[in-house]
Amino acid sequence: MAGNQPLGGNEMPRFAGPGTMMRLPAAKSAASLDVCFVGIPMDIGTSNRSGTRFGPKQIRAESVLLRPYNMASRAAPFDSLMVADLGDVPINIFDLKDSVHRIEAYFDALLLHDVIPLTMGGDHTLTLPILRAMAKKHGPVALLHIDAHADVNEHMFGEEIAHGTPFRRAVEENLIDTARSFQIGLRGTGYAAEDFDWSRDQGFAVIQAEELWHKSASPLMQDVKDRLGKHPTYLSFDIDALDPAYAPGTGTPEFGGLTTVQALEIIRGCRGLNLVGGDLVEVSPPYDKDGNTALLAANLLYEMLCVCPGVVYRS
Ligand code: MN
Ligand code: MN
Repeated sequence: MAGNQPLGGNEMPRFAGPGTMMRLPAAKSAASLDVCFVGIPMDIGTSNRSGTRFGPKQIRAESVLLRPYNMASRAAPFDSLMVADLGDVPINIFDLKDSVHRIEAYFDALLLHDVIPLTMGGDHTLTLPILRAMAKKHGPVALLHIDAHADVNEHMFGEEIAHGTPFRRAVEENLIDTARSFQIGLRGTGYAAEDFDWSRDQGFAVIQAEELWHKSASPLMQDVKDRLGKHPTYLSFDIDALDPAYAPGTGTPEFGGLTTVQALEIIRGCRGLNLVGGDLVEVSPPYDKDGNTALLAANLLYEMLCVCPGVVYRS
């Protein structure tokens, strides 16, 4: 037992105790941490249903059910990594652009440490400032983007910054290596029939949801690994990639999406990649009547932790 351990369910009832992710210790600084959880309680970049400002708090609340060991992969993340919850980024709830600056400054400071941030959103706008900080440290990163939407709109209501534009800006600002980037799960209706071709024209591999219908996502993840190799890779996971049958608690649901099993295959398939950070965004608790969307998000964040470089696997 090398690092911080989540508070166990036989030490304190699961419905009690600290409000941190997995009831891990809270930390003020990322110094000496290998992986940190960070919340960004923001929804002022959303275009339809709001509510993702409550995402981090609800994901943490549902994360109490998580136990430390992964029974599928035998990952033992807390035995080899020092992990803690850094709390939330204090955004400016009245100003999206200022919030984006605050998030970038927060991650600039965070990434002075050798730490992998796993961020709980919050709407998808937040990935842009994180990628800005990532690119300063690593150069253009490979992007593994799981989403119902491409989020490459040029503008929304004339604005350059919104939850439907982060990856357009990231390409323009050379924050991602598009030849080593994937968008997986895209579907639904578009503003134009060619919407997803913009990404393809930039070099992204785009796998629409229909290509994964009735199939395992594991073969795709072998293609991902072949293409990404050991390049620094950022994983951005929008919960609306999943079908609303599994994840209804989100702002822009689209039918015909991924299953929870496919989502697990995708994240577990990231084992061996050089992950430098990840996020799980767009959980909207007001639309999550039974808490299952937040519970799923907590599980997917745990699965991300289990594929971070440096995790040990028990035999
Ligand atoms: Mn998105
Ligand atoms: Mn989406």
